[in-house]
Amino acid sequence: MRIDLHCHSTASDGTDTPAELVRNAAAAGLDVVALTDHDTTRGYAEATAALPEGLTLVTGAELSCRVDGVSLHMLAYLFDPEEPALLAERELVRDDRVPRARGMVERLQGMGVPITWEQVARIAAGGSVGRPHVATALVELGVVPTVNDAFTQNWLADGGRAHVEKHETDPFEAIRLVKGAGGVTVFAHPAAGKRGRTVPESTIAELAAAGLDGIEVDHMDHDDETRARLRGLAADLGLLVTGSSDYHGSRKTCVLGEYTTDPEVYGEITRRATGAFPVPGTGGA
Ligand code: AMP
Ligand code: ZN
Ligand code: FE
Ligand code: FE
Repeated sequence: MRIDLHCHSTASDGTDTPAELVRNAAAAGLDVVALTDHDTTRGYAEATAALPEGLTLVTGAELSCRVDGVSLHMLAYLFDPEEPALLAERELVRDDRVPRARGMVERLQGMGVPITWEQVARIAAGGSVGRPHVATALVELGVVPTVNDAFTQNWLADGGRAHVEKHETDPFEAIRLVKGAGGVTVFAHPAAGKRGRTVPESTIAELAAAGLDGIEVDHMDHDDETRARLRGLAADLGLLVTGSSDYHGSRKTCVLGEYTTDPEVYGEITRRATGAFPVPGTGGA
């Protein structure tokens, strides 16, 4: 069984539509794929309708969080997408992404970059708007060669010249909300240092005590030493360990199934969840 529990579509900052994502997941030989767009469940219906036979969809989201001034991402799986408290929090974060992206555009304009909000909105195409869309605009304008090159202190990295913060949920509150909606939480790429500051192990321990289910260990932004350390931490804290591609289509270099999750861990995630069930593909459109 090949299980990839972290993928983005055009519902946020991926480049595959939800339908393309599930077709590509099947073509990549995956048995299970999770749709985890940033702060939105908007891609579920399209992904479900297009789900190929033999592929199972795990519905999820990647929630933008912040604690002690450090931004982090919380993967949430198999929660009830209609549950009002979590729905309201997702909307709050997602809606704040728009003025925040406009703010980054204004900063860039102030730096002499001929970027416009209309350009960024066209690239985001209605998806949950984020820095990768702004970065894509910078690539289009020839300001930076690649999306990755926009994530520096000069441009859009945390605390960078053109970076603007958005509303982000306290991760302890996120865990509480996701559990309240019947879902399971996995701390995404907890030690991805090249993205900015990361939380100390003591915070991961506190999150574990607050009901965190697992941590994402096998991820492109973790080196071997980091993975070994995180595996040890997970064992100490009784946390599940996942691996996943964090696929973003052509906006990032990783490919579907580049890292995968152990079937036993996947089984445990599905047993803990009560908000939604994995969706088996029946060979849709
Ligand atoms: P946002 O949610 O708008 O703050 O954007 C965060 C997203 O930007 C992450 O989910 C990644 O997809 C991407 N990102 C963050 N840091 C980097 C980086 N150093 N290089 C490339 N992409 C990054
Ligand atoms: Zn992303
Ligand atoms: Fe992330
Ligand atoms: Fe992600």
